[in-house]
Amino acid sequence: MNIPFLMSLKYSTETMCTGLRTMEENCNYITENDFLSNNNNYHDLMADYCVSAYRFQQAFLKSQTELLEKMKIAIREECTHEWVVDLIDITPDCSKKIKYCKHCELVDA
Ligand SMILES: [Zn+2]
Repeated sequence: MNIPFLMSLKYSTETMCTGLRTMEENCNYITENDFLSNNNNYHDLMADYCVSAYRFQQAFLKSQTELLEKMKIAIREECTHEWVVDLIDITPDCSKKIKYCKHCELVDA
């Protein structure tokens, strides 16, 4: 299997999961700040957003998270890993050595 394509699927799925989590946070913010009240000019927009989120967000996030795990397994199994050792800065005075695959970015602990 083509690792760059699998990585592209993984990135887009991760981005989607981040967006779906943000959607949940937005609904909490809307509720906590009483943006669903009739005093708000954008009441209908806020309500539509939350209805859409409550209908689809949880189930879609669950299925995307499951897909993401399958993609990670496929990438780990398919990649012909080429390990690179690099130093990452933790603080200005302290760095840490990490080893990762230059194709699939898997970190070797
Ligand atoms: Zn790899």
